[in-house]
Amino acid sequence: MTEAEYGATLDRLVSSRGLSCPWCNSTSTGLIQKDVSRYRGQSFDAWHCFACGIRFASRIGSPDYSAIARRHAWYRLLASTADTVESILSHGREVFWPLMAASFIHSLPWNDDRRYREFLSRVICANDEGRKLSILDAGCARGFVGGIAASLGHEYLGVDVDAESVNYAADQFGRFGARYRVVPQDWYQSESITFDLILCSDVIEHIPDPTGFLAGLLKRLNVGGALILTTPDLDSRRMHVWATDLPPIHYVILNRKALEIRIKALMPDAKTEIFNEDFGPDPVERQALSEIQLQRPIDIDPASPHFAYDAANVGRPRVEPLRRYDPSEFHLTNARTAEALMSERRRSGSSMIAVVTRS
Ligand SMILES: [Zn+2]
Repeated sequence: MTEAEYGATLDRLVSSRGLSCPWCNSTSTGLIQKDVSRYRGQSFDAWHCFACGIRFASRIGSPDYSAIARRHAWYRLLASTADTVESILSHGREVFWPLMAASFIHSLPWNDDRRYREFLSRVICANDEGRKLSILDAGCARGFVGGIAASLGHEYLGVDVDAESVNYAADQFGRFGARYRVVPQDWYQSESITFDLILCSDVIEHIPDPTGFLAGLLKRLNVGGALILTTPDLDSRRMHVWATDLPPIHYVILNRKALEIRIKALMPDAKTEIFNEDFGPDPVERQALSEIQLQRPIDIDPASPHFAYDAANVGRPRVEPLRRYDPSEFHLTNARTAEALMSERRRSGSSMIAVVTRS
């Protein structure tokens, strides 16, 4: 960044202070790039919160989830079939993970990263111990983990706002006993049933009211129950202006510390572990973040001369973001996973996983 650009960045930050952070409500925030994306005539700016360190979009609207689900390559890929579930289950537990890995390499739509492994290992473990869990999959999309969970005898409910995805899931996995329901966007404010295990994988970053949503999920945990929440981790790409899908697909990019603090405020007695996703077939120990890591200073002040506008998905602000996702394209994450699996090396992903256990 040149001296002039640095000065311009500072001026912009100072003049733009004041937009309220959707995560911590602080108004100590700054605009880091105007017009980072456009969709249907609306322009979105990228903001940074100096108080909690997250990034957020200037405009929080009512996203067209169905359009996103239909046109986003990643969500389309998360569409396993009943046959895949049956064939994997029929081979028994010993080969469960290798089969998942193999099915992934052969481009079957399994996702072998840690986000799902955390959930699946818990339902398998409970099954081994003769425990049946009541499970909520919040934002289940095409609901493929429901096929496994219900086959093992757990009581699984997947909810999503996108009817097409829910219909697909019910059609494929309803036969195993999994239940699916289309819900309105604000369902989490009114539902009152509680669960032993809640999975909410890569959903919160889409939600206009992310803290209300998190509170709604935690309220639905039984005592001793666990929430597995996954979302992109800003810490993994801290120098990117917008490190993940552009608004209006993603509205907020959280970081580990901000997530930890909010969970603590909402449920002080809960036990929380936050770690990063990883790729590859071998089981590894969890890499829980130490206190020191969580407390390290967040040095992502965009006014810093070290801050770089280094985002592959920024710089084409005139393009409608949804158009960039071609379902026929092989998603980067898949390529990385396949590479890790084939080379037997593990890779870190760009998502974080929080496991919150209610005491
Ligand atoms: Zn904030």
